[in-house]
Order: sequence, then C-alpha cells, then structure tokens
Amino acid sequence: MNKRSITVIPGDGIGPSIVEAALTILDHAGCNFHYDYADAGLMALEKHGELLPQSTLDLIAKNKIALKGPLTTPIGGGFTSINVSLRKHFNLYANLRPVISFEGTQSRFENIDIITIRENTEGMYSGAGQTRAEDNNSAEAMSIITREGAERITEFAYQVARSESRKKVTIVHKANILKSTSGLFLEVAREVALRYPEIETNEMIVDAVCMNLVMYPERFDIIVTTNLFGDIISDLCAGLIGGLGMAPGANIGKEVAIFEAVHGSAPDIAGQNIANPCSVILASIQMLEHLGMQDKAQQIRNAIRKTIAEGKTVTRDLGGTATTTEFTQAIVANL
Ligand code: ATP
Ligand code: MG
Repeated sequence: MNKRSITVIPGDGIGPSIVEAALTILDHAGCNFHYDYADAGLMALEKHGELLPQSTLDLIAKNKIALKGPLTTPIGGGFTSINVSLRKHFNLYANLRPVISFEGTQSRFENIDIITIRENTEGMYSGAGQTRAEDNNSAEAMSIITREGAERITEFAYQVARSESRKKVTIVHKANILKSTSGLFLEVAREVALRYPEIETNEMIVDAVCMNLVMYPERFDIIVTTNLFGDIISDLCAGLIGGLGMAPGANIGKEVAIFEAVHGSAPDIAGQNIANPCSVILASIQMLEHLGMQDKAQQIRNAIRKTIAEGKTVTRDLGGTATTTEFTQAIVANL
C-alpha cells in the first residue's frame, strides 16, 4: 500500500524539537506516513531568502495535509504574518482549537472539554485598511465580516457539534457595541442555529464569556466566534487546562488542512530541550481524526493521558523535570 504523504514544516524556535517528537510518536504508533519536509519562517528566510517559499506552498497543496511547528514572523520590515498568509492562501477559514483536561496537569479545573472554533480569515485580522498617519498620531484598521464568512464558520461549528454529538454551541459576539460587524455575525449565526434544532444555542458577549470561562468553564461546550475574539478566548481556554503546551489547533479549509500548536515559537526556552511537545502531538491527533484514523488518535491520546497522570516523566510546565526527549520517550513507552 502506498504511504500517505504529509507535509511537515518544523518551524522556528522550539518548533523542530516538538515536531520531531510528534513524528516519533506517529511512527511508533504505526501510522505509516511519508513525510515531505518544507521550510517556512525564519529558517526559510535564511535558506531561501523568503519567509514562505513557493516550494512550501506547492508541497502543502500537493499533500493537502500539513503538520507545522510555530513560525516566527520578524517584527517590522513590512512582513505580514506567515500564519495569516498561509490561512489566506489556502482559505483555511476554520480554526478549531480544542482543550481537554488531562489528569495530573497543574490547572485549576478538571473535566474541561471545550472547542473554540475561530473564524480564521476575516474580522480584525483580515489585514485590510491598516494605516498609520504620517505624523504617527493616529492609526486605522478595518474589520470585515461577510455573510458568507459568518455562515460557513457557524455552519462548520454546528457540523462539528452534530458529528461529535455535542450538546451546546455558544455564539460569542459584541453586537451591542460593534453593531455592524459583530451585529452581522450574530444575525447570520442565529439563522444557521435554526437549522440545528437538536443542538442548544447560547449567545454571549465576549466580555461575559471571559468571566464565565474562568468561573464556570463547565457551562461551555463549543464556542464559535470571529477572528480576534477567537484568538484571545482560545489562549484563555489553554490556561484552563495547564497552559499553551497542551493546546493544539487545526486550520481547515475546503481542500487543505494545517495542524499546529496554538502557541508561538517560545524563543525564551528554545534550544533547551524543555518544551512540552504535547501541543504538536495533540495537533497530530487532530490530523489523524481528520484523516479518519480514530483508533490511532485514541491510542496516542491514551498514552499521553497515562504519562501525564503518572507524573514521573513530564516537562517543567507540567510540574516535572523531564526534557522534551524524555517526555516523548515516556509517551512512546505507554503507546
Ligand atoms: P507569538 O507572538 O508567536 O504568539 P508569544 O510571545 O505569544 O509568541 P509563545 O511562543 O506563544 O509566545 O509562548 C508564550 C509563553 O508560553 C512563553 O513563556 C513560552 O515559553 C511558553 N510556551 C509556549 N509553548 C510552550 C511549550 N510547548 N512548552 C512549554 N512552554 C511553552
Ligand atoms: Mg502568543
């Protein structure tokens, strides 16, 4: 049988080490993938003179599936964010960020199971209308919401709710203040909700969501929201389950899907072999589920669960002293 090819982008900072950890685990779980390596980010800028080479875009388009480490976009110099460029180029409109509790992590809550579904191409991050006055005394940016964009992301959220037999979708907005943009989003989301009578729909303004998430996270199931709110809320959710090291994300479009960690390249701990690889390992689990390999996904998730619960060989952010490599080997041993 032909091996399925996956495009792998090791990325910057802690990226290469945690991506390697994820591949080690996929291999030990017998996933039998072929990996096509591609460069992006600072690494690509050094090697190819550009942050996002055409050859990388071609490899992602060819395999349709990519697993990617965090990428650094140099600040200033007029570079647009590589992550934003990738999402736009492949029209990866849905960003699916699940957080689940693992017994043994140092978090304030147990039994968290929330998926934030963030619109990934519009809103405050559309990149439109970004200007700074010449005198540097004012700045502008444009937020764009379209009916089509709002509809496809809420449709996506309800489809996930249905296929995973989830009970509730919370539509997060700020329509009371941002009447045009958030107002349209809410209006369209309500229309979509009507098509899913079996799923409970809840509407909440984003500030109330923040308070409720830290007080009563058990009240949330699926959250669907616009780009900026989704970015912030998903980091908040990561904080509910022990930090960014446990937070994966999938960027999904009609053709292509890119799986990644929610966090950045973590330059403060890069090169020390102490990063928690679970973010990318959990992203690879999302990838397996996307590919219909639910058994492998479950097998790897169980191994992570066991390793963290044992608590002997975990990284610093989880309260241990193990290196990235040792933690990875412990997960392998539990597969
Ligand atoms: P970006 O601008 O790319 O989002 P950032 O400045 O928000 O970057 P992150 O890289 O997201 O920084 O990291 C935020 C903090 O979380 C840092 O202190 C980092 O060390 C820590 N962190 C991020 N990922 C991990 C990980 N996998 N394991 C351990 N700590 C992590
Ligand atoms: Mg960040």
